[in-house]
Amino acid sequence: MHIQNIVFIVLFLAALSLFTYNLLRIRTYLMLGRSDNRFSNAGKRIMKVLGIGIGQAKIFRDPVAGLMHAMIFWGFLVLVTAVLEAFIQGFYSGFSLGMLGSVSQVFFASQDLFGLLVILSVIYALFRRYILKPKRLTGDGSTNADATFILCMIMGVMLTMYGVNATKSLIHPEYASYYKAHFIASHLVFLFKGNELTFYNIFWWAHIVIILTFMNYLPYSKHFHIVTSLPNVYLSKIGPQTLDTEEIDFEKEDVFLGAGDIEQLTWKEMFDGYACTECGRCTSVCPANLTGKPLSPRKIIMDIRERTSEKAPLLVAGGEIPAEIESKKLISEHYITDAELWACTSCMACVQECPVNIEHVNPIVDMRRFLVQSESRFPEELMTVFGNMENNGAPWAYPQSDRLKWTEGLDITVPVAAEKNDFDVLYWVGCAGSFDARYQNVTRSVATLLDKAKVNYAVLGTEEKCNGDSARRLGNEFLAQMMIKENVETMKKYNFKKILVSCPHCLQTIGNEYKEFGGDYEVVHHSEFINGLVAEKKIEIDDSKKTDQKITYHDSCYLGRYNDIYEEPRELIKKTNKGELAEMKRSKDRGLCCGAGGGRMWMEEKIGKKVNIERTEDALETNPDVISTACPFCMTMLTDGVKEKGKSEEVKVKDFAELVLESSK
Ligand code: SF4
Ligand code: SF4
Repeated sequence: MHIQNIVFIVLFLAALSLFTYNLLRIRTYLMLGRSDNRFSNAGKRIMKVLGIGIGQAKIFRDPVAGLMHAMIFWGFLVLVTAVLEAFIQGFYSGFSLGMLGSVSQVFFASQDLFGLLVILSVIYALFRRYILKPKRLTGDGSTNADATFILCMIMGVMLTMYGVNATKSLIHPEYASYYKAHFIASHLVFLFKGNELTFYNIFWWAHIVIILTFMNYLPYSKHFHIVTSLPNVYLSKIGPQTLDTEEIDFEKEDVFLGAGDIEQLTWKEMFDGYACTECGRCTSVCPANLTGKPLSPRKIIMDIRERTSEKAPLLVAGGEIPAEIESKKLISEHYITDAELWACTSCMACVQECPVNIEHVNPIVDMRRFLVQSESRFPEELMTVFGNMENNGAPWAYPQSDRLKWTEGLDITVPVAAEKNDFDVLYWVGCAGSFDARYQNVTRSVATLLDKAKVNYAVLGTEEKCNGDSARRLGNEFLAQMMIKENVETMKKYNFKKILVSCPHCLQTIGNEYKEFGGDYEVVHHSEFINGLVAEKKIEIDDSKKTDQKITYHDSCYLGRYNDIYEEPRELIKKTNKGELAEMKRSKDRGLCCGAGGGRMWMEEKIGKKVNIERTEDALETNPDVISTACPFCMTMLTDGVKEKGKSEEVKVKDFAELVLESSK
């Protein structure tokens, strides 16, 4: 063994030990968090890693920056062969992939090709960062220095690889015929002739030292995502985005009342911090951020990571935490403020956009839970809303006995579950459907369509309570769980096959979140259900009644991003209208929130531009006759927006169920 091999082995083992130490160190920090099972459904998780991780599917939502990043990522995968070759040579100098014979030519050619693509991508990344300066790469304390250092190291790895590849054909002439496959490096050989051994050693050592330095710099850099992003995609939620649930049982000693600091977050919420690339894609689509609120989802994740780095080592070490560290807290002016947390509409645009599947909404709601349940600190207008939910089972001040008032004046009879017991479909009317004067017309339209189609259905009437969505998203988990459990008990009394809802918030909560509370139901939104009735000709559209209007459709976040329903409402609009269906510039999974989700419906909007105005402007840009919606909250927000823009006379806001009824036989 040569002295060179011994020096390499010592360096390699030292670097590997330091890297392993850092991984274990971070693991001990994560162990401080609450438990969260993210290991079920291995098959589905692997598919996600293949699509979003290896395939870089979400990265390409920004095509130019996406291509640049994907080239670097795929380049790294391909260039593993060059790194492996160099490392094996550290143990045994005579090794060469040329030993594989003609197969090695595939590796050599791909190394040169992807090496070039990576170099071009790094140059573009530096150009973009320093010359183009896109807004999303700045702010939130994110700096260029770390990224520049990493990009320079990547460039160093590539250049030294070409140096090694150019000189090795002179060192290992026995493989020279295979080395010709290095279609770039082979043209550089002439530069090193005569001093090939010296140059080879310089390039090889530089290559090794840069890689080992890079590896050990990562745990201290935002580029640690190179290590954590694929695991983070693997560990991300399978299926619909639901809130983490812990039953609130005051009999328990350690009942979870919210996250005031990192040790009350789940380990996964902390891990997200280590996976963030600081790319800013989340913040660039956040409706709160876009309208001047203090919330930036990227900052939330970066703050969680910063606070973890500050406090976790002290918690792991045991002993007393210095008062100046303990007093800082995660929710404070040092990190995340109350105003940031209350600005979130839970629209999920950030989660949708994040290339490494970070889940911002869960920690935001966990922190809201802390504010509400541990600190009793929340915007004062919520006091009335919580009181109404507690006393009336609805955010509005109407008594539960008024829940059937929407049926008054209808020329059909609306069947009530208590009088029917067995039925196929339980029509869950919801609070807005029961009490909101404008939205009652949508409820009446749906009921009339059900009656026309002879659907065997019933409503709960005065037995129905708020589904709990707003209370949950506002952090009042105790109140939400109380209403959810009561609703589950009520529904247990009846035999039905599925639940029909008009409100996407009911769809999300009852359909995806009641399972945690023993209520496992098939829940369908009225867009899917009515579309089915039209397809089966149980509801027939009268061609002579079809409207001829320009209609634009606003995607509800809870219908679209949460439940992947984009086409059914559009299909119904097309079936009932001869005019154009005009898409807004931000639509489908890129749609902008109306501003009402996450309980914001019940809160005043005092900072920045109103989100509903921003969205109404998107809609008005299409010059519509009608803005069609699929959610009671969206309907309220857009109706208010149209009114504020002085367009109420020309532009109507309608649910597509109303359009179907108007054009049906
Ligand atoms: S859920 Fe929506 S409002 Fe909340 S942080 Fe994400 S993008 Fe912003
Ligand atoms: S959370 Fe995701 S989208 Fe946001 S900055 Fe981090 S990696 Fe980018």
